[in-house]
Amino acid sequence: MLTITQTLNWCNRHYQNGKDLLFPPQCVVCQQWGYLLCPTCAQRAEPVGDSICAWCGRRQPTPTACCANCQQQTEPARLLVRAATIHNGAIRQAIHVLKYEAKPEMAPLLAPYLVAVFSQAPWATLQRDIEAVVPVPLHTERLATRGYNQAELLARAFCQRVKLPLHPEWLQRQQYTQSQVGLNREQRQANVADAFGAAPAVAGRTFLLLDDVYTTGATLQACAKAARLAGARQIFALTLATADHFDFTGDQPLNDQAQTWSDGA
Ligand SMILES: [Zn+2]
Ligand SMILES: [Zn+2]
Repeated sequence: MLTITQTLNWCNRHYQNGKDLLFPPQCVVCQQWGYLLCPTCAQRAEPVGDSICAWCGRRQPTPTACCANCQQQTEPARLLVRAATIHNGAIRQAIHVLKYEAKPEMAPLLAPYLVAVFSQAPWATLQRDIEAVVPVPLHTERLATRGYNQAELLARAFCQRVKLPLHPEWLQRQQYTQSQVGLNREQRQANVADAFGAAPAVAGRTFLLLDDVYTTGATLQACAKAARLAGARQIFALTLATADHFDFTGDQPLNDQAQTWSDGA
């Protein structure tokens, strides 16, 4: 006799199989049938590597303890960030599909990159202090349009694998911000400066912020600021991808490629 859970699992599995037969998945990068992201394209993700700033994790010409960007911030505001991949090629396309082409099923396929980077330095030592994972929240209006928060889907799949609790309710968007696309560093900071609020539950907690793309870091910084104001003990951040730039010190508008990036959107 099947239990209700077994029956539901059976129906779900056969529904998925039937759906795949009727509408077989196709690799969003190379269009190969049978995969949403085929093994060849999945392997094309470019790791960030070791030549980075030890704080923000951005690529640097040589490994750097504290890049010019991070030096502009005093230490409580400095955020330790690591990204799993460079935001280009297959990963960039996969993230775009996750965010803008109504394919939430892409998130579990991308979570393994986050898991992989989380097993490396500096997380190996920081992991034991991290009590929870908090996705960067999406404003309710954008959530209503998209139907899901891609950062939360990534965080959920990540948490299942690393066995950490997920607490999306610890951070909220307080006001509607315009998309970060096309804004330079200062405009991005101003756009999201007070956009977030943190729940009292963050008081005394150490947690990992999680987002899809790290461009200037304005969104992550604003989240961390809100959490610190609410008494959070320590905040770290992990993103799926980061801009392939050595530095964002200049205040010039981002280049053409960067203008199509979309953190905070
Ligand atoms: Zn492919
Ligand atoms: Zn830095």
